[in-house]
Amino acid sequence: MEFRDLKKQYEVLKTDIDAAISRVLTNTNFISGKEVRELEEQLAEYVGVKHCITCGNGTDALVLALMAWGIGEGDAVFVPDFTFFASGEAPALCGATPVFVDVEKDTFNISPECLEKAIIQILDEKILIPKVIVAVDLFGQPADYIRIREIANKYGLLILEDSAQGFGGNIKGRRACSFGDIGTTSFFPAKPLGCYGDGGAIFTDNDEWVELIKSYCVHGKGVDKYDNVRIGMNSRLDTIQAAILKVKFKQFVEYELEKINEVALSYAEMLSESIIIPTIKDGFVSSWAQYTIICKEKGIRDKLQFRLREQDIPSIIYYKKGLHEQKAFEKNTILTANYKNTQYLTDRVLSLPIHPYMDIYDVKKIVKNIMQILLDLKTGCNI
Ligand SMILES: *Cc1c(COP(=O)(O)O)cnc(C)c1O
Repeated sequence: MEFRDLKKQYEVLKTDIDAAISRVLTNTNFISGKEVRELEEQLAEYVGVKHCITCGNGTDALVLALMAWGIGEGDAVFVPDFTFFASGEAPALCGATPVFVDVEKDTFNISPECLEKAIIQILDEKILIPKVIVAVDLFGQPADYIRIREIANKYGLLILEDSAQGFGGNIKGRRACSFGDIGTTSFFPAKPLGCYGDGGAIFTDNDEWVELIKSYCVHGKGVDKYDNVRIGMNSRLDTIQAAILKVKFKQFVEYELEKINEVALSYAEMLSESIIIPTIKDGFVSSWAQYTIICKEKGIRDKLQFRLREQDIPSIIYYKKGLHEQKAFEKNTILTANYKNTQYLTDRVLSLPIHPYMDIYDVKKIVKNIMQILLDLKTGCNI
């Protein structure tokens, strides 16, 4: 059994993907070919924003957004403590100080209460200037943008939506990547919409920022690549990846998003009595980058994972530690809480196989095994 079955997806899309790659090879427009522009137009329309700019990966997308806003030394950037490293790495790379904020225990996303407390703490300390909230759509569910936007407005902060895992999700029909002042995503193969290598994209309605980002991602170009007006980087989506993504995006919209939600629903129906299943808020729709369960008691998770592995069922721990515990942030961060929810989650979470091509029999096999293992652990058998 695969954790996320990209082989099956390729089997289904092979004819179209091979043809798309072959067209790029024939045209040899490997950089900035027409497929890149076509993909950007399609994605912007789907997300419901004016502009989409593709780039090299989801981490660069975050860095480029922060560069366009001029974020750097002396600036505080608020980041959820429970997320992938890149959400905090990007502000640190720009010279800013990441300020870690505890998350909600049930949705895994940044806690609006803890966020406001953290902002007040930074304002009181008068050392850093609060600038940006990085809100992450973790595991596929959008963060609580209704409340995050209120807080951002109250304190005059910008929202950077890290939707690397959230592409395709929505809140009452409004799509992920459109909630931030800038939204970003990643096309890393295992993300909800993945390519066959690295890739990323930036979304915004703001014309000025778009011009800056387009310059920063091509060596700080002015009129062209050989007229350089600022220090930038080289971060573009390859034409081959854009061509692959165009095929995959169609399938994502027409089939995959609905299908993966059906898989998640099956898990929920069968598992909710035995273990804590992910909470999706009312009116919110997830794109299920991960299906992450929470063990009721600490100490069970590792045994559960071990026993599942014995049955050839893969599972992964996202994430084993909070960002505040990462050595890389030792010297460049500000702590604003005891991170008790991050701690609770890092001890208990386990992500199960999920993808749009998953067989209901596999879901049943996984559920049956989880229930048996939990029962064994309870009664003290076979541990
Ligand atoms: C994957 C991921 C990123 C980075 O994306 P890459 O394309 O791998 O650089 C950033 N933030 C989150 C939350 C992610 O899951």
